Amino acid sequence: MMVVQPSKIVCVGRNYAAHARELGNEIPKQPLLFFKPSSSLIGPDEAIVLPGASLQVEYESEIGVVIGRRARKVSAANAMQFVRGVTCANDVTARDLQKTDGQWGRAKGFDSFCPVGPRVADDVDWAHLEVIGRVNGTERQRGSVHDMIFPIPVLIEYISHIMTLEAGDLILTGTPEGVGKLAPGDVVEVEIPGVGVLRNTVRGDGAS
Ligand code: ZN
Repeated sequence: MMVVQPSKIVCVGRNYAAHARELGNEIPKQPLLFFKPSSSLIGPDEAIVLPGASLQVEYESEIGVVIGRRARKVSAANAMQFVRGVTCANDVTARDLQKTDGQWGRAKGFDSFCPVGPRVADDVDWAHLEVIGRVNGTERQRGSVHDMIFPIPVLIEYISHIMTLEAGDLILTGTPEGVGKLAPGDVVEVEIPGVGVLRNTVRGDGAS
């Protein structure tokens, strides 16, 4: 059972300056948006499947924001009234295809490329949220809402002036520095202290 059933998954690229730099990208002047299909969702303990089309699949630990009620053209000041809660998310990305395709639909869209969970929490301190990424128990990423170029309320304002956000929609708010390649057998964890740990194993395509 998925903890979210979004009509759309809206993602923000390069929302942490250090991560933009590690990939050699400019700091964006406005939020850079893309989508993942709802078919990419998996829950805790499900397998991330490495597609044969990619030689470089990477994890991206992210703070996931779940919308609680319809939001259209809301202000940043009012944005948090439209939020149900926060969850851990992994914006799994075929980095090689992201670079060669020119747009990101394929690189971000494979089945199993959006692990989410283990719960949606509303009892959190939004001003001090942190996200931690681990592979096989070793910490690789650590980010804070303080490091976001565009804070969560600003993202909701920006996105909701483009598209109506429906209850259940999911916003992935970008990843901090420290992304890296996954291999079959790896165990990936995304933790948001106070929310929980999202844990997924990695396997190759064709493995049973
Ligand atoms: Zn991402």
